[in-house]
Amino acid sequence: MREFLSGDNKSDKTMFFVNIAIIFVHIFLMFIYTFIHSSLLIIINTLSIAFYVCMITTSYTNPKRYVVIAFTEVWTHMIVAALCFGWGACFQNYAFSIITACFLPAHEEGRDKFYQTVPYIYSFSVIITYFALLFVLDLMPSGSVLNVNDTIMKILFFFNNAVSFIAIMGATIFYTSKSKRKVYELTRKADFDELTLLYNRYAITQMNTQVRNHAQSLRKDYSIAILDIDHFKKVNDKYGHNSGDLVLKQISNILKNIGSDNIIPGRWGGEEFILIGTSDMRYETFIKQMVKLNEKIAHTKFKIENHEQIDITVSIGVSSIPYDMSMEDAVGLADENLYEAKNTGRNKVVG
Ligand code: GH3
Ligand code: MG
Ligand code: MG
Repeated sequence: MREFLSGDNKSDKTMFFVNIAIIFVHIFLMFIYTFIHSSLLIIINTLSIAFYVCMITTSYTNPKRYVVIAFTEVWTHMIVAALCFGWGACFQNYAFSIITACFLPAHEEGRDKFYQTVPYIYSFSVIITYFALLFVLDLMPSGSVLNVNDTIMKILFFFNNAVSFIAIMGATIFYTSKSKRKVYELTRKADFDELTLLYNRYAITQMNTQVRNHAQSLRKDYSIAILDIDHFKKVNDKYGHNSGDLVLKQISNILKNIGSDNIIPGRWGGEEFILIGTSDMRYETFIKQMVKLNEKIAHTKFKIENHEQIDITVSIGVSSIPYDMSMEDAVGLADENLYEAKNTGRNKVVG
């Protein structure tokens, strides 16, 4: 059952337990059908069990076929059982479960034509079936094909209502947790740089607005530093792009562990990083932190491909930023100091 709904292991496990639960439901129904000697229901039920057993014992990888067979099974079962037992046994309630469940794969495979049309066709046909059953059963003088005793009817009433409610609840919980996970993944992608897992330019710009608003409320300046790796092109040229990436990741880890809640690091682009110091931190303290950061990087051995280690230095341009300045101008101020650091020998902090 690999790659069933979303291809991940958790979905495989969930589907495994769902199928086991469905088999138990059918085993219970088998007792009832055997008790009332209904050959037709026993045959349908046996086929259903066979299908779900196949689902858990074979490495079934075709979710579309699963959806079609599962729908056909529940739908047929629902029609035949509702006609046999009548409205009071509540087999028609599975219509609600089908509608909830048949949209689940659509959520996973959004752009697939099959899932964009089939759940709607299923839902529509199930709704028609529901009302047709009501109509047909109403026309029958006894209200059902079989005449079973009250106890069996009550058992079926409770059982079918419970199972269909649980199915609806299960499908909804499944759908909600999937959606939450998707939103989390998308937010992560939108806000974080994929390589370094630091805030990306978009997110750091949003952060800057927050820091600036806070600075405005305190009527204080805040700080910005732009950090640029020295001669990084040479690292790429000499050791390869992958080694360059490893260096970027290690520098990012150092920035993440800078040890102050008042400093927010981000990747500004390429091999340039930005650090925003909130107005809760004095500019002099921020500069000291940048000097410490510069020294730490200079003293770190950076691991690259083939178990080699290299030295890296960075240049940092720092500036105090008035709270009413645009981010573009603020970065411009720090950039001017970075330019000076580059032109006066690199591996230094200018602020
Ligand atoms: P300087 O000391 O003047 O900053 O020299 P530099 O070589 O660092 O500066 P330059 O701007 O000439 O080169 C930056 C290089 O950074 C060029 C580009 O290939 C590399 N680079 C940018 N983004 C990435 C990345 O994501 N991964 C890797 N490996 N390299 C990158
Ligand atoms: Mg650069
Ligand atoms: Mg550089």
